[in-house]
Amino acid sequence: MSNDSKSAAPTDNLSYDAIVIGSGISGGWAAKELCEQGLKTLVLERGRNVEHNKDYPTATMDPWQFKHRGAMTKAFLDENPLISKAAGFGEDNAHFFIRDKDHPYIQEKPFDWIRGYQVGGKSLTWGRACQRWSNYEFINPERFGYGIAWPIGYDDVAPWYSHVEKFIGVCGNKDGIEAMPDGEFLPPFEMNCVQDVISKKISENYPDRHLVHARWAHITRPNQVHLDQGRGKCQARNLCMRGCPFGGYFSSVSSTLPWAKRTGNLTIRPFSVVHSVIYDEKLGKASGVKVIDTNTKEVIEYKAKIIFMNASALNTNLILLNSTSARFPNGLGNDNGLLGKYVAFQNYRASVTGAMDGFLDKYYFGRNPTELILANYRNLQKQDTDYKGGFTTFMGAYRGQQSAATESGEIGGAYKDSLTEPGGWKVYMYLQGETIPKETNHVRLSKDQKDQWGIPLLVTSVEYDDNDQLMIKDFLTQSAEMLEKAGCKNVEKHENKQAPGLDIHEMGGVRMGKDPKTSLLNKWNQLHLCKNVFVTDGACMTSTGNQSPSILYMALTARAATYAVSEIKKGNL
Ligand SMILES: Cc1cc2nc3c(=O)[nH]c(=O)nc-3n(C[C@H](O)[C@H](O)[C@H](O)COP(=O)(O)OP(=O)(O)OC[C@H]3O[C@@H](n4cnc5c(N)ncnc54)[C@H](O)[C@@H]3O)c2cc1C
Repeated sequence: MSNDSKSAAPTDNLSYDAIVIGSGISGGWAAKELCEQGLKTLVLERGRNVEHNKDYPTATMDPWQFKHRGAMTKAFLDENPLISKAAGFGEDNAHFFIRDKDHPYIQEKPFDWIRGYQVGGKSLTWGRACQRWSNYEFINPERFGYGIAWPIGYDDVAPWYSHVEKFIGVCGNKDGIEAMPDGEFLPPFEMNCVQDVISKKISENYPDRHLVHARWAHITRPNQVHLDQGRGKCQARNLCMRGCPFGGYFSSVSSTLPWAKRTGNLTIRPFSVVHSVIYDEKLGKASGVKVIDTNTKEVIEYKAKIIFMNASALNTNLILLNSTSARFPNGLGNDNGLLGKYVAFQNYRASVTGAMDGFLDKYYFGRNPTELILANYRNLQKQDTDYKGGFTTFMGAYRGQQSAATESGEIGGAYKDSLTEPGGWKVYMYLQGETIPKETNHVRLSKDQKDQWGIPLLVTSVEYDDNDQLMIKDFLTQSAEMLEKAGCKNVEKHENKQAPGLDIHEMGGVRMGKDPKTSLLNKWNQLHLCKNVFVTDGACMTSTGNQSPSILYMALTARAATYAVSEIKKGNL
């Protein structure tokens, strides 16, 4: 189906074994596992269809082929002040993001809700960082008193991380760091000479800090399972957000969805916005979902034995809050009133930049699409700072374009010549910090405002707090000191004050837990009070950890799907 096609896939069949809501990072994994394990599965996706390669219109375009050389027009920016803030957003990938006016929500407090509504969701445009959580991240919220207990620990998910890593292809190095466990890695990209020096200097000056290759969903050396998916080696083009013709990075469009399709068990229905989950009072479980065709506005009900919620964290909250019945007047499974509460995000408010003299005879191969990570070194065995939680530090070093000519403001031939030469080395570090889930940070439904399909608008009431500020201060002090001790010059600290949401790591609202009084989901991601509904996207997160979260959503999804199939086989669902 082409990009501009307005017709949905034929779905005469209204009854399936499983329904998956959303076709992005987590929904793709639900589809793969459920279809492979024999369930006839319907994936409902509110956006248009996107097929691998066929629907990547800009993937091989050169800069001069873009009308505005990659930039957006003033008219576009004026109309889309929200979505155009997204990291990496530009003329080459704008077709994989929403337009502001089509999808309103109410910001009770500033919150930048970044969305990509199409088959593939944000898996097409994500940054691809894929570190595993450490056990500290699972146990610390409870033991240091800033959250409830997770019902699972690292050992429960470790095999599922392996399962996902092997299939999607994750490059990295085995570094033996407790705060960032090793996985099933393909070879990492090379560190460049300045990264190498800074990594060594940090180890010399701070024996407990490790600047290493991060883990990225890029195929650096394909295994058979990647070739079987029709994917190949990453070409280091760093144009990933356009969709990769080589399948070099993981997206559900290049990997899990086509894999699921091959089983013959998959039906994808695009242009299908899920309005709510239908609860059957007599059966005491969900019977299906109510869908609105986004083009015709036709209302359709699909039935299934199990439902996987993978609409991305806040949309999953929205659908469940909108799934009201006589039994659940405040939203499905919401007897304790906590649905939509304890929404959290990751702290992305700080960075440090600098320069490194010398190394002017050195360069690097291609456009490396990866960065290094300084694994979390805070609040591991004990709380050793005046704030709670830990943080990951991403790090890069590159040769800038600025030359002496441009810096002195020259124009003409000398300026043009200077552009053909790389400038000196620049370095940066930026923060990805854990935030504390709080009851006051919540989303809810508007009582009087609806979208174009008659679905209540989401109200976001989420903000940064003092704990985040203390973390920022520590990050800035420590990062600047590390770069200076490593020999960097002109080190500057930056605080961007961005709103929550722009991190694009929003989580929570339907958290997992041991106790139905304080959580919505059990250890298998089932709603405590409606066992045939599974929530395995970011909404399920009990705390945020400091690692990039999406690979955990994938691991939890594969784990829950396998459990769901075994429960169906036992006759329990
Ligand atoms: C620029 C960028 C960089 C990022 N970098 C990283 C990174 O490096 N590492 C990392 O871990 N994460 C990163 N993320 C975040 C990552 O993309 C998300 O965590 C991940 O995509 C979430 O997966 P998901 O399946 O929950 O949601 P999505 O991938 O967003 O998929 C949800 C799907 O559900 C559909 N949907 C929504 N509502 C409905 C409805 N009512 N009915 C039917 N369908 C619906 C949507 O259209 C969408 O296709 C980044 C994101 C962006 C945009």
